[in-house]
Amino acid sequence: MPGSTRNHVSRFPDADGYYGDFGGAHWPEHLRPALEELAGAYGELRSSPAFWAELDSVRTGLQGRPTPVHYLENISKQLGGARIYVKREDLNHTGAHKINHCVGFALLARRMGKRKLIAETGAGQHGVALASAAARFGLACEVHMGAIDVDKVSTNVSLMRLLGAQVVPATSGQSTLKEASDSALGAYTEQHAHALYAIGSAIGPHPFPMIVRDFQSVIGQEARAQFLSITGGTLPDHVVACVAGGSNALGMYSGFLDDAEVALHAVEPLGKGAELGQHAATLTFGRPGTLHGTSSVVLQEDGGSPAPVRSIASGLAYPGVGPEIAMLCKSGRLSVGTVSDDEATATFLRIARHEGIIPALESAHALAFATRLAANRPPNESILVNLSGRGDKDVNFVLAGHDGGQPLQP
Ligand SMILES: *Cc1c(COP(=O)(O)O)cnc(C)c1O
Repeated sequence: MPGSTRNHVSRFPDADGYYGDFGGAHWPEHLRPALEELAGAYGELRSSPAFWAELDSVRTGLQGRPTPVHYLENISKQLGGARIYVKREDLNHTGAHKINHCVGFALLARRMGKRKLIAETGAGQHGVALASAAARFGLACEVHMGAIDVDKVSTNVSLMRLLGAQVVPATSGQSTLKEASDSALGAYTEQHAHALYAIGSAIGPHPFPMIVRDFQSVIGQEARAQFLSITGGTLPDHVVACVAGGSNALGMYSGFLDDAEVALHAVEPLGKGAELGQHAATLTFGRPGTLHGTSSVVLQEDGGSPAPVRSIASGLAYPGVGPEIAMLCKSGRLSVGTVSDDEATATFLRIARHEGIIPALESAHALAFATRLAANRPPNESILVNLSGRGDKDVNFVLAGHDGGQPLQP
């Protein structure tokens, strides 16, 4: 069972779905029965050992879990500071951590007697993972995707179709992740009698943020045990993850939240700079607000509507953040840093050239922050980074020089 022995994870959310000041279920009234049905079904399965045993077995065979923890020896030695380790979520089937909760949602849907999974996707990672999980469990799959992203990551679109999913382009507004989420919610509103909404991150109304965190907590549980075994009993001094909604980060943090001596860092995309519209650094520049059914921190324009966002990493371009991340940040348990497009791109190339690993641009944000941190910390300290996904999807984009700039020198 997810984190049943860990204090923090069992304390939040409260009975109303709140994480301190944040969370709750702020969805239209007519969707309340769907949320209550989901909360009831998941509430029962959460304490069913047979459910978690089946999930574990699918994860071993289909996904390739456990993923290893690996020392970045070359980069660490170049920096001459703290040692950097990575949790290799890029080695998951379909290339990122997202399949951890997609397989969970597919199993949940089957237990609930649903026939279809509906979701949104940004970089396409969530859509491909969900399409694979749906195929494995014999479920239909409908993926909503911003029209801009459909063009940007066309290989992932082909993979989704090959795996049997229907891809629905969202063409309103900026035509990226936020619009895809709106569109997916509309579809779920019409189809919830026979479909389950498999949200893409630890966001949305209760119980979604809790369910996604629980399914992702396998990352932190594995990583903690692996790290202790590698170091002979020492915990990392720092744990770093990139944050959009917060699913890969919470998955990783959940292994370390109760270890007060481990510093937790969230890394947000600064895009092209601090001006509103140029980044997606929600915790850094946002204010309390409600987005997609949860009350949390939101990047807002003066009038209070969600601000336009940008990041070289499509999967990080979201103007909100999950409520649990907002709480951890407000309480001071989690500190927040930012990384620009250029810094993430330089780190992408550096990790490829010196470590033989091609990270997703999303993960390159966490790695860039970690290299900056490592350079300022002594060699007896260690940093554990969640390498959330692989960068095959980003290779052409980076080598062509992003936004029409000069081709990059590897
Ligand atoms: C989607 C994605 C992210 C960001 O989403 P979170 O829910 O914040 O984890 C990070 N890395 C990769 C590789 C992704 O695909």
